[in-house]
Amino acid sequence: MEIPLIVDTDNIIWSHSKVDIALSCPYKYYSQYPPAKYKKSPSFRVSAGEGRIGSAVHSTLETLLRVGTPMARNKTRYTTKELLMRGAIKHELTLSEMHVALEYIGGIDRFVQRHFSWRERLGNRIKHLMVEKKVGISKDFTPSTFWPRKDKTYPWFRMAWDLASYVVNKDLTSINILDHKTGAPKDSTDSYEDQCRSYAVAALVMYPDIDYVQFQVHYPATGEVISRENTMSKEEIRDVMYPWLKERVEKACTSIKTSQEARKDWYCNYCNFKPTCPTLR
Ligand code: SF4
Repeated sequence: MEIPLIVDTDNIIWSHSKVDIALSCPYKYYSQYPPAKYKKSPSFRVSAGEGRIGSAVHSTLETLLRVGTPMARNKTRYTTKELLMRGAIKHELTLSEMHVALEYIGGIDRFVQRHFSWRERLGNRIKHLMVEKKVGISKDFTPSTFWPRKDKTYPWFRMAWDLASYVVNKDLTSINILDHKTGAPKDSTDSYEDQCRSYAVAALVMYPDIDYVQFQVHYPATGEVISRENTMSKEEIRDVMYPWLKERVEKACTSIKTSQEARKDWYCNYCNFKPTCPTLR
């Protein structure tokens, strides 16, 4: 069935990746997020193996990092290997993908150990520890729910922080957000700058008393963590990143309102819609 162009973008719930897709390839946007009354196009698992491995690794980290928090689920103390196997079953990994997932054990254990030493070192300076925290904000930069409400009001932009901490250190208060990436490790966080800025905006909306936000990326393949070169001050987030996010979402709206064009680029290698894409037929 042919999908008409979206004319009303008011109730779209945006996320970092949704904006990215709308800006880069409108065809992919319409394939992945068709309007509710149109049947969802089939998703082809072309490069989704990495996605499934990533999900198993993420769920393992989530359980391990929740230990010692009110959100703890690892009551029976599963080992990292057992958790990975459970994740592999849940996310339907093939046997060879399961072997790849098990290679992450060393990196996961190294990171988790370091994280718990850090927790111990900072003690009660960590006021709030959040694992897989779901965050939603409204268009006027006020907190919102993550899910649409019963009264049919929607969050404007939302995200899930893999790991975040609200820390008070001497006179300064910060939110430190860390994102797990199962891809190949990089030297800097530059390629995640858009995601980092979106997260910083949400952090300040949710915690307006903070002085700054730090963003880190963790590579479970090695256990390595890299930090954004500079922390983001409250003023920078409010004066530069709020308008930046608003403009970026407006451009995403314009992109899908005016086109369903398939735009071929390097990202096509990672696209699940290659089998139906008109540029590749
Ligand atoms: S393969 Fe490339 S051009 Fe085709 S839908 Fe995917 S991202 Fe767009």
